[in-house]
Amino acid sequence: MTNLQGRTAELASNLAAVEERITAACEAAGRKRDDVTLIVVTKTYPASDVRILSGLGVRHVAENRDQDAAPKAAECSDLPLTWHFVGQLQTNKVRSVASYADLVQSVDRAKLVTALSKEAVRAERELGCLIQVALDAGADGRGERGGIGPGGVEELAARVAEAPGLRLDGLMTVAPLTGEYAGRQQAAFERLMDLSTHLRVAHPAANMVSAGMSSDLEQAVAAGATHVRVGTAVLGVRPRLG
Ligand SMILES: *Cc1c(COP(=O)(O)O)cnc(C)c1O
Repeated sequence: MTNLQGRTAELASNLAAVEERITAACEAAGRKRDDVTLIVVTKTYPASDVRILSGLGVRHVAENRDQDAAPKAAECSDLPLTWHFVGQLQTNKVRSVASYADLVQSVDRAKLVTALSKEAVRAERELGCLIQVALDAGADGRGERGGIGPGGVEELAARVAEAPGLRLDGLMTVAPLTGEYAGRQQAAFERLMDLSTHLRVAHPAANMVSAGMSSDLEQAVAAGATHVRVGTAVLGVRPRLG
């Protein structure tokens, strides 16, 4: 067996296990499997893995660092993939990200909205945007790992909705490690769902709810997430922090 065959078999087996988990979680929640989209987080893994995953039927991939993502997306530009950017994003990287990302899930401040809008228009692309909600936001309304506190969602969402080149698609969160939701993933994801319900009153099309990773996708599906972002469970434990 070649390395490529070995890696393909490994990813196929991991993917099947994740698929089974999502299916079971949907059944337990009385939801249709089609209501939940798997996004495979390929950060720190090579373009060759992205290519294998595409061959295995994966259609959504996510990256969190522009330095890694830009060359990978370029190498994989022939594949029928939707690219999600899920990392903390500095405005000096926005031009690059806007050239390959289809969605940015980590929109968390007005300055970023302005920059994304400018570069999306420049690139003549429409960028889907999710507001990243920090459920552990401090008094300053910001999360330690990015995100805006629940109180800031409405105003930021309105900015995205009005910005040329941007499309408001919904909300994203990462289960907090600290604060009142620490260790209570499902409660955190239910809070995100409440915020989504509220958001959709003014923005009915912004119906994406991105929550849940390798360790807590079941809780996210139970809470009503439409998108889960799974890295480790598909690709393996990352070789370095990402
Ligand atoms: C890395 C990452 C994931 C995937 O995490 P795993 O635990 O590897 O499944 C999901 N969302 C974001 C924002 C990430 O940075």
